[in-house]
Amino acid sequence: MENNDNKGYRGAALSILNKFDVSVWNDVEIETTDGVFSGIVLPRSETADDRHIVLKLITGYNIGIEVDTIQGFTSYGSKEAHYKIPEKEFPYDPIKPNVVLLGTGGTIASRLDYRTGAVIPAFSPGELYGAVPELADVCNLKTIKLYGVFSENITPEHWAGTAKAIKREVENGAQGIVIGHGTDTMHYTAAALSFMIRQTPVPIVMVGSQRSSDRPSSDAALNLINATWTAGYSDIAEVLVCMFGPTSDEYALLHRGTRVRKMHSSYRSTFRTIGDTPVARLANGEIHMIKNDLRKRCPKTPLEIDTVFDDRIAIVYYYPNMKPDIIDSLVDNGYKGIVIAGTGLGHVNKPLYPSLKRAIKEGVHIYMTVETLWGYVQMYVYDTGRDIMELGVVPGANMLPEVAYVKLGWVLGHTHDREKVAEMMLTPYAGEITEREAVDGYLIMQGGLPEMEKFLKEVHV
Ligand code: ASP
Repeated sequence: MENNDNKGYRGAALSILNKFDVSVWNDVEIETTDGVFSGIVLPRSETADDRHIVLKLITGYNIGIEVDTIQGFTSYGSKEAHYKIPEKEFPYDPIKPNVVLLGTGGTIASRLDYRTGAVIPAFSPGELYGAVPELADVCNLKTIKLYGVFSENITPEHWAGTAKAIKREVENGAQGIVIGHGTDTMHYTAAALSFMIRQTPVPIVMVGSQRSSDRPSSDAALNLINATWTAGYSDIAEVLVCMFGPTSDEYALLHRGTRVRKMHSSYRSTFRTIGDTPVARLANGEIHMIKNDLRKRCPKTPLEIDTVFDDRIAIVYYYPNMKPDIIDSLVDNGYKGIVIAGTGLGHVNKPLYPSLKRAIKEGVHIYMTVETLWGYVQMYVYDTGRDIMELGVVPGANMLPEVAYVKLGWVLGHTHDREKVAEMMLTPYAGEITEREAVDGYLIMQGGLPEMEKFLKEVHV
């Protein structure tokens, strides 16, 4: 008889569960040709193959066991997991700072859905406190779910909506703001908020997590604690990103919103300051400043926002043999601004020149950045760079391509006058252009040194 409890299992995997009378949530020992494994049988993603049984090991890790290797099961009863996080009311302590956490979605506000195997959003104030009770040692926390989207779905409307919510909460007395956000596009939102929030009396700290909170290696709790700590106690009144420094949980790094970028698809230490040093290092509730040119917390400063945005903008990442129709199609479709991530010091191939010329003639604003990420655009070095400038393409100094893209949308929200756009684009508003690159800004002081030292020792034995 078919066992209906075997959620998501089918074919060979379902047959073997039925053969040994095992159900999902059974606590089992599985004897295989590769050894014995103990754990709980988890539901299977409906879209996954029928060749594996998924087991949650005692360590918390999930493994898949190949059906053909299974020799027998011993079952020790059932342990159905309830993945609902207990809701608790956040305690209030008059001595602690009032921090507001604005949730926008992403892994930090997610849990695993065992039906589909996917990570699904789950964010409520009570759930958050239930999951990370240490937050109550740091601050009085109010949480507001602004949005519940994975960050690839964030748009300029979300950026403006977040800036407006920050203004409202700061005017209502928040002494620090934390923004929970998907990590994939957090650096775009950090840049957008850096431009849209013209001045702030308190820290605005963006945070996310690379691993969801049901996983033993999750960075969600520590990142939240570090971010609320920075928001509540630090002296830095800027838009920051707070995430793991090294791959271990030794310390967090604080990065400036316009100089930060997600650099690894899965490491917890994925955010890196590019072309500068991080702002500060944070460990065990202590902040060690690395940079000192930051705006300071000042309760009397009014929070000012400027959320205009023209979204008719694009980034074009240059690659060899790019055809001019890429540029033409943007112009034909009404785009008003293009940021190019060019090769080396800021180049594209000759066949693109006529299309760039035409685009500029038709009123499109084109800015050059570098796909090397580190370093400045320097279009005076080669003739080809000068030629491109003569067409009207403007070198974007050391703005990161994504930052220049966000800034161009923000600037075009104010003006389309060519000179005014150039003046605004080349004036640093939030540290997006620096006069020179910090000598220690290239790869060092980035949280990677402990791993690097270990690696060098191993190589040089
Ligand atoms: N895809 C997710 C997001 O950016 C990843 C994360 O949250 O880290 O929304």
